[in-house]
Amino acid sequence: MPPGRKKPISILDSLGAAATQPLFGLKNQQLKDLLREFAEPAYRVKQLSGALYREWVDDLAEVSTLPKTLRDAISERGYQVGLPKIVEAFTSVDGTERYLISGNDGQTVETVWMPDGDGGEADDGSEAGTDLRRATICVSSQIGCAVNCQFCLTAKLGIIRNLTAGEIAGQVVTVLKRQKVRIGRDRINLVFMGMGEPFLNYDEFMAAVRLLVEEVGIPESRMTVSTSGIVPGILRFAEETLRPKLAISLNAPNDAIRAGIMPITRKWDISDVMTAVKRVSLRAKEKITFEYVLLGGLNDRLDDADEVGRLLRRANLPLKVNLIVWNPGPGMPYRMSDPDTVAQFQERLRLSGIPAFVRRPRGRDIYAACGQLKRTTELVQVE
Ligand code: SAH
Ligand code: SF4
Repeated sequence: MPPGRKKPISILDSLGAAATQPLFGLKNQQLKDLLREFAEPAYRVKQLSGALYREWVDDLAEVSTLPKTLRDAISERGYQVGLPKIVEAFTSVDGTERYLISGNDGQTVETVWMPDGDGGEADDGSEAGTDLRRATICVSSQIGCAVNCQFCLTAKLGIIRNLTAGEIAGQVVTVLKRQKVRIGRDRINLVFMGMGEPFLNYDEFMAAVRLLVEEVGIPESRMTVSTSGIVPGILRFAEETLRPKLAISLNAPNDAIRAGIMPITRKWDISDVMTAVKRVSLRAKEKITFEYVLLGGLNDRLDDADEVGRLLRRANLPLKVNLIVWNPGPGMPYRMSDPDTVAQFQERLRLSGIPAFVRRPRGRDIYAACGQLKRTTELVQVE
C-alpha cells in the first residue's frame, strides 16, 4: 500500500473474517471517494456503479469499461465486488424458491423468490401482459431476530447479527440475476419480511432501500417493509421522503393476547404503535397493511375479528388487513386455523368495512413461508 494511504476499514475486520472490502453496497459518494484516491475522472464512478448495480458483475475483471490497471489497483487495496452468493436453493411445488445466500462473513441469510407475487402485496390492480413477469422477493434484514415472537421460527435463532446495506440489497440483486429479471420491464415487488426486524437495523435497512431505488432502479412503491411495531423505527420512517410502504404485524385484537405471543407489546403496546403509524404521511392511494397471523383457537374467533374491526376503524387510517394462516414449525404449541374459520374471520372484517385479504401460503414444503425462515437445510413435510 502506498505510504500515507489508510488501509480501508472493513466491516469484516471487526468480525475477524477475511479482510476484504465489498464494493457492492457502497453508495455513490463512497465510490467517488474511493476513485478520487486513484485520481480517476468522475465518469468512472458511473461506470463502476453501473457494473455493480445494473450489470450485476461478480468480479472486477468483468468490468471492461475500467482500465485493467485501475481494476488491479482497486483489488490490491483489498476491494472485491462482494455480491452475495447463493449457496443452496430449494424449489417448492408451487414455484417458490428459497435461497441460502452467504453474507460477507460466510454466514447465510434467507431470501425467497415467489413468482406471480405473494397474493397479498400484488393487489395493485395492474394487469400483467403476456411478456411481463411478475414476482415478489422476500428479503432478510438481520441474521436471526431478537424480537422473540412465539409463533415464529426465525425467533428460535435469536439475533446473530445485523446485515449490512450491501448484504440486504445484495440478496435482491443476486436473485434478480439468477432469475434474469429485466429491470424496468418485469414487475418485481420487494417485501422486507424475511428474517429479522428491519427497524432494529434501521440505518442499514434504509441505506439498502436507497441503493435499490436509486441505483438498481426498483421503485419504492413496489416495496413493503414489515415491522413488529418498533416505535422509534416507525417514527424515523415517518420522516423519510424515500420509503417503502409500511406493514405492521398486529397479530392480535388487544394487548393482552398480543403480549402472550409478541413480548415486544410490553415495551410498545398497540396504542403506542397506532400513534406512531399516524405520523407517517401517506401518498395518494397508499394504505397501511396490518398483518394478522391466525393462530387456531387463540386469536381467530369471530369476537376477535369484531375487536380487530373496532380497533382499526378507530385508527381512522387508509388500511387493509392481510390474514396469514400460521405456518407450522416443529415443536411450536399452535395450530392452524381451519379454512372455514379463516373465511369467516375475513368476512367479518369485510362486513365491518375493513378490506381483508388472505395471504396464500407460499413454499411451505421448503420452509419458505412467512415465519419459517430458520436456515433449515433438511426438508421435512410439515403438513
Ligand atoms: N420481523 C418483521 C418482518 C418479518 S416477519 C415482522 O415481524 O413484521 C413477516 C411476517 O410473518 C410478520 O407479519 C409475522 O407476524 C409473520 N409470521 C411470523 N411467523 C409466522 C408463521 N409461523 N406463520 C405465519 N406468519 C408468520
Ligand atoms: Fe422477528 Fe418478525 Fe419473527 Fe417476530 S415475526 S421474531 S419480529 S422475524
